[in-house]
Amino acid sequence: YFDDNTVIYLDGKFVKANEASTDLYSQTLHYGYGVFEGIRAYATKDGTQVFKSLAHYERLKKSAELIQIPFDYSPHKLVEVTESLLKKNDLTDAYVRPLVFCDPNMTLARPNNVSIMICAWEWGAYLGDKQLRLTVSSFCRPHPRSIKIEAKVCGHYVNSILATNEAKDKGFDEALLLDSDGYLAEGPGANLFFEKDGVLFTPQLGNILPGITRATVLELAEELGIEVQQGLFEPKELFAADSAFYCGTAAEVIGIASVDETKFPKAWKDSLGKKLQDAYSKRVRESSTPATIFSTKL
Ligand code: PMP
Repeated sequence: YFDDNTVIYLDGKFVKANEASTDLYSQTLHYGYGVFEGIRAYATKDGTQVFKSLAHYERLKKSAELIQIPFDYSPHKLVEVTESLLKKNDLTDAYVRPLVFCDPNMTLARPNNVSIMICAWEWGAYLGDKQLRLTVSSFCRPHPRSIKIEAKVCGHYVNSILATNEAKDKGFDEALLLDSDGYLAEGPGANLFFEKDGVLFTPQLGNILPGITRATVLELAEELGIEVQQGLFEPKELFAADSAFYCGTAAEVIGIASVDETKFPKAWKDSLGKKLQDAYSKRVRESSTPATIFSTKL
């Protein structure tokens, strides 16, 4: 993720990644009490676009507020910082990882001070580009009354890691998690959509992370005249679907070939997912949002 020349942003300064340090007594390290984001930058014909950068920093702020971590940063300023960070590291197509972490504090009390770091690196398609073979996880997503499920909190990812490990140990590519009532929820790091008789279905907000890619897919579906229904869906509805896909910043839009023993009948090339995958790759490289475009040439 970094070499001797990599620069990261840490609490108002750009510093060498291999010289930056943190405190081993951080509350975040011990209790998972921190928030983070995952953002992608894309090369466009007019320069680099950090896709939906402001939306990501607004979600970071909201995540912090939802779990009562003080957040005194301006999302607009963080958008600018990210652009400088990419320039300093000479990155165009890149993944950006902001993390808000807490001061040394071994109690369970609210932190007084927090730090922010932002790093970036070149990263290909997170789940590859082949259609995924999923398995329904024995782990469910955390109950929304146990945690703030709509916040992107460090500690929540223990659930994602356990589900991923289990799926890989069973020989699958990726897990599919249900919510604690047994309805379809999401992947360890992506949101779910499925197609049946020309209509798209996706789990409603409430028991899932409100994905920014999910929101983009909803926008694209509307532009393409594709009907989407959001709701609580049972696994049997997915098993009867024609096709399905996952979407997320890191994963982008990626087809699902099967869930456990059930293979989806529709060829990916003919699916609504493929249409949306093409529209998504186009959208992220379009220079239609000038405010978010900048040149990596200093
Ligand atoms: N669900 C979970 C659990 C995730 O970790 C992610 C990745 N952030 C997503 C959904 C997709 O969110 P986004 O499109 O904002 O990356």
